[in-house]
Amino acid sequence: MSKEKWSLETKTIQCGWQPKNGEPRVLPIYQSTTYRYDTAADVAKLFDLEAEGHMYSRISNPTCDAYEKKMAALEGGVGALATSSGQNASTIAITNIASSGDHFIAAGALYGGTVALFTNTLKKMGIETTLVDAELPLEELKKYFKPNTKAIFAETIANPAMDILDFEKLSTLAKEMGVPLIVDNTFATPYLCQPLKLGADIVVHSSTKYIDGHATSVGGVIIDGGTFDWCNGKFPEFTEPDKSYHGVIYTRDFGNQAFIIKARVQWIRDLGSYLSPMNAFLSNLGLETLHVRMDRHCENAQKLAEFLENHPKISWVKYPGLESHKHFQRAKKYLKGCSGVLTFGVKGGSQEGEKLMNSLELAAIVVHVADVRTSVLHPASMTHRQLSSEEQIAAGVSPDLIRVSVGIENIKDIISDFNQALEKI
Ligand SMILES: *Cc1c(COP(=O)(O)O)cnc(C)c1O
Repeated sequence: MSKEKWSLETKTIQCGWQPKNGEPRVLPIYQSTTYRYDTAADVAKLFDLEAEGHMYSRISNPTCDAYEKKMAALEGGVGALATSSGQNASTIAITNIASSGDHFIAAGALYGGTVALFTNTLKKMGIETTLVDAELPLEELKKYFKPNTKAIFAETIANPAMDILDFEKLSTLAKEMGVPLIVDNTFATPYLCQPLKLGADIVVHSSTKYIDGHATSVGGVIIDGGTFDWCNGKFPEFTEPDKSYHGVIYTRDFGNQAFIIKARVQWIRDLGSYLSPMNAFLSNLGLETLHVRMDRHCENAQKLAEFLENHPKISWVKYPGLESHKHFQRAKKYLKGCSGVLTFGVKGGSQEGEKLMNSLELAAIVVHVADVRTSVLHPASMTHRQLSSEEQIAAGVSPDLIRVSVGIENIKDIISDFNQALEKI
């Protein structure tokens, strides 16, 4: 049976590292910056991208490579690139496509750090973003496009708005407008959703979340679907010689891997934001149990969401697995599960909410999400603090919103923790 046919549960364990006779069964940490070669000609071939191999761990490394191959297999892409953080993955996914003077469109319900990156830092680099309400009809969304629009960016499950991406509409829009659809699949993970199969062209992750899964290592990854036509006239950087790389033409020389190879040999080479071998090892180890953990995260979140929805002191709960969620049907259509993240507000607003958070004993207040331990966070005063109130509302963050990252502890203990904290308000 070919590896492509393996189910995802098998791929999380078996893809990537392929030991040869007598080599370690488990992916080793190649903690080496450099690689030895017999002749200068061998190294020249690497520089010319004529031979496959590693030359320097700012650009590639065998531990990272095995992890990248596994991620590409899980998402169904032609290649992957591991980055130092999720933020860096989003940055490179955009800068690899758009230059100073270009523009792209992003669905407004986004992670706060991504909003800050797009609206401030990329703007300083001359790349303009328009944040749009992705729920608008297709024809309305088209009006935001300009001749210099180069991409659409959106999250599968928005953090923390919990909106579910309308893949059909957004991928149709991207195709009709001749730009790639980039999807941040962090909350869903490839176990719950594979955006490339739903019309996305490029996937990014903060592997810091469920991929690592244990809150040990910050990292990011970009996966190239290999499907986008960079030769449609809008992307000269892909079809004209790269002066910084002695005249390489990415589409001519690398075919359907043009995007991911360009990202590595231009952006990772020059910015130096590659993932470290140690963190690649930990992310790969996390992946080996992804499917088992995600099932429990989803099951626990569903039960906690139902408990909270029926509690008299709760004013609202948002979880796409609840029938009351505006995207309940869409979640069923596109996702195998709704992740371990839910949001809610308590009667009495943010003041009572803060009291509740402080009264939790098992669930901790941490600036993190999507690991095995149950945790809570108040985005308006934490992750989304740097945004204006209007930007917070656009990102789906109301002042009273509490985000719960439901862990994989016994659900009875999680519910009784929330129950005792609710009694104190
Ligand atoms: C955390 C997060 C990021 C940023 O990732 P880092 O690894 O923290 O840089 C991007 N997108 C989403 C959806 C996130 O949750």
